[in-house]
Amino acid sequence: MELIYLDHAATTPLSARALAAMQPYLTAQYGNADSRYSLGRTASLAVLSARDKILSLIGGSGGNLYFTSCGSEANSWALKGVCAANFGKKSRIILSAIEHPSLLRAAEDMAVFGFETELVYPDSLGIVRPEAVEMALNRGGAAFVGVMYANNETGVIQPAREIYSLCRTAGAFYFCDCVQAAGSLPLKCDFADGISISAHKFYGPKGVGALWLKKGTKIARLISGGQQESGLRGGTTNVAGIAGMAEALASSCEDMQAEGERVRAIRDSFVSQVLTLVPGARLVGDSANRLPSNANIAFPGCRGEEIMFALDRLGLCVSTGSACSSGASKPSSVLLAMGLSEEEAASCVRFTFGRENTAEHTSIAARAVAEVVEKIKSK
Ligand code: PLP
Repeated sequence: MELIYLDHAATTPLSARALAAMQPYLTAQYGNADSRYSLGRTASLAVLSARDKILSLIGGSGGNLYFTSCGSEANSWALKGVCAANFGKKSRIILSAIEHPSLLRAAEDMAVFGFETELVYPDSLGIVRPEAVEMALNRGGAAFVGVMYANNETGVIQPAREIYSLCRTAGAFYFCDCVQAAGSLPLKCDFADGISISAHKFYGPKGVGALWLKKGTKIARLISGGQQESGLRGGTTNVAGIAGMAEALASSCEDMQAEGERVRAIRDSFVSQVLTLVPGARLVGDSANRLPSNANIAFPGCRGEEIMFALDRLGLCVSTGSACSSGASKPSSVLLAMGLSEEEAASCVRFTFGRENTAEHTSIAARAVAEVVEKIKSK
């Protein structure tokens, strides 16, 4: 049975180019990037060149790039670190209700220090309207505003540029989680004061991400004791991971347009086949402002989880809710925030397409979905 992987928003396979870029630093060039002899300097040069490459790919010359272990770390550090640096000055946090838990839970952690969080809800299409953010900003000075670039569950793209402009007027720091967008959408770091990326979402290795911050941003140190990452995040540098991330991002950016069009076409074909074959099925979230890879479909009368397990038995990998919360069987908070009922939210399945998928996969997958849904409904 051929495995058909339709869960690229959860993670992506490591590309051959990224693996090749990592290989030397996993083998012969194993030096510590902080060692001063040549083995160490080779590692250090690889990190330097990866940092430059990523900064140029994300148009980030107006800021600094800090390597982290993942997107969650970059998000949580940004929120806690920027709030801590504002301690005693501003005590409000504004987040969209559809942010990743690494931001939502980090904001909850800051409550003990007196920070209050206001959530801004999206409309029924999954878009966080700039006017809604403006209303929250008008209620008082915020230390941190977080609205992501593209949502992990619906793929819906947010009006980041407009939100940034409102935050600038209000003098608030604007952070944009770009974990789902990086590698799929062109990024130029002029639409936020800070962004996060994660290598395993764009065919790079797991265990490495980055936080970009505009020059002049004040942020509290995350890991004390080491001079790595400008003394803000100590710890021996993940040289191979960083080299792999830079190469993966470069290759995603090279292919972005052509691959985006190809993936969009197979995703659209899949959606139209499913909506034709499965009565009552509907696409959730805005269909135009959406990552080319994502289709989140509601199957009224079924539980998404049941569909996911039945598809797994047929060799198809799909997901319900986000990967990080898929262990829990509560309906997705993102879908509830968009106004779906608990029952409808629990009926949703997320299909996310990527490099290895072909048009043939979409027909096999659409037929399998129709078969599975019919079986569940006839029980
Ligand atoms: N932000 C978004 C939008 C995500 O989709 C994810 C992961 O799914 C993360 C952050 C966390 O990234 P990581 O898995 O690298 O911790």
